[in-house]
Amino acid sequence: MNGAASNHVVVIGAGVVGVSSAIWLRRAGVKVTVVDRVEPGSSSSTSYGNAGVIAACSVAPVTAPGMVRNSPRMLLDPDFPLFLRWSYLPKLTPWLLKYLSHANDKDTRRISEGLAPILYDSPSQHEALSKGTQAEEWLVSSDYSFVYPSREAFEGDHYTWMLRRLAGFEPELLEGPAVQEYEPNLAADMNLLAVMHDHGYIRDPGRYIAALAEEAKELGAVFVKAEVKDFDLTGGRVTKVVTTGEDLDCTEVILATGVWSGALAKKLGLSVPLESERGYHIVFRSAENGPRTPMMVTSGKFVATPMKAGLRCAGVVEFGGLEAPASKAPLELLRRKVAQTFPNMTFEKEESWLGHRPAPSDSLPLIGEIGASGVFAGFGHHHIGLTAGPKTGRILAGLISGDRQNIDLSAYDPQRF
Ligand SMILES: Cc1cc2nc3c(=O)[nH]c(=O)nc-3n(C[C@H](O)[C@H](O)[C@H](O)COP(=O)(O)OP(=O)(O)OC[C@H]3O[C@@H](n4cnc5c(N)ncnc54)[C@H](O)[C@@H]3O)c2cc1C
Repeated sequence: MNGAASNHVVVIGAGVVGVSSAIWLRRAGVKVTVVDRVEPGSSSSTSYGNAGVIAACSVAPVTAPGMVRNSPRMLLDPDFPLFLRWSYLPKLTPWLLKYLSHANDKDTRRISEGLAPILYDSPSQHEALSKGTQAEEWLVSSDYSFVYPSREAFEGDHYTWMLRRLAGFEPELLEGPAVQEYEPNLAADMNLLAVMHDHGYIRDPGRYIAALAEEAKELGAVFVKAEVKDFDLTGGRVTKVVTTGEDLDCTEVILATGVWSGALAKKLGLSVPLESERGYHIVFRSAENGPRTPMMVTSGKFVATPMKAGLRCAGVVEFGGLEAPASKAPLELLRRKVAQTFPNMTFEKEESWLGHRPAPSDSLPLIGEIGASGVFAGFGHHHIGLTAGPKTGRILAGLISGDRQNIDLSAYDPQRF
């Protein structure tokens, strides 16, 4: 779009979307400054604490048909991994009504079709981003499996599997003794595994992001630690990013501030229905007798990933905003479900984390220029940001450098709300 005219891009946010954008911009020869209030890979960024899965097949949004009918039961069931801090409900309600309005077949299929193009080739996008860099050591090619107690439970998920099949993902089904042969550490009452081949995971997402940031620096990107407060625009186009440190002159901006993007988007006149979908992880340090490859345990809606530090079990959905501290109940449920699924696991100690999935009400990220402002949105990746971050960064860099990717971006239009 701007091609050679671009002479300085400021990327706000050094999570997976921000550092990927910076690398692809530098590879295209564009001058880049990345600004974040914390160091790349810091534990306060969502990119630090996710389950690490490069989930190419994750085309099914959370809002599925039947959700409106089922949510009260889910919320009241202490064994279901959906939580709400009730005091937050008044603030949540406008977003929640929009979110639930998509829990129908037509919208779910549309969202799924929108997600597929940024997910399907994600393992090779991570490879293209990290190959030959220090980040490469954290990237592992692997299967990604879905664990079910029975065929009946698997068939109960037929809608989600229909969406995955439509996107070209067909699982290999293992049943009975084949489950234990594949993963001997699974509980004996887990009787079906739906194995997706050709996926992958990151052995330490925080260090992966830090290593990608190092690569961006080696390529010439400048990193600034400051908080962004505002933008200066001249004739409707961004000319300056206002920070708590020095202001940064620019010709374009990439807004890659994850769940915190709403306030900055508003400065540009864009009102985005964006909420935190809170999630948790527990790292069981130096775990033994856990899974060999990442597994989504469907009964607990968590993923168990064998990482460098130990087994990371991450998931759970809690609504409660950005400010409230971590709640006890989600972590207790996670602990209980992990013990049921991997009964022989031993570990040295536990570390827990609360993070914030950036959740637009229609479950699709915002990727593209906000009007003709020169500010490009790159946020709202919900459950799939680690997976789709590298491709998103490549798309955004291409929009600015003129090396456009062959992809229809209409589903991600930042002005669709
Ligand atoms: C429990 C859990 C498990 C998950 N598992 C997976 C998974 O297995 N696979 C997957 O693909 N995804 C997963 N996700 C989702 C994924 O982690 C996110 O979608 C992704 O990390 C979002 O990346 P981001 O770059 O948009 O945001 P972030 O990583 O949050 O980065 C945004 C950055 O912007 C900075 N920032 C914000 N505001 C300002 C400001 N005003 N000034 C300066 N800096 C600012 C922040 O400090 C931060 O560093 C999971 C999420 C959770 C919570």
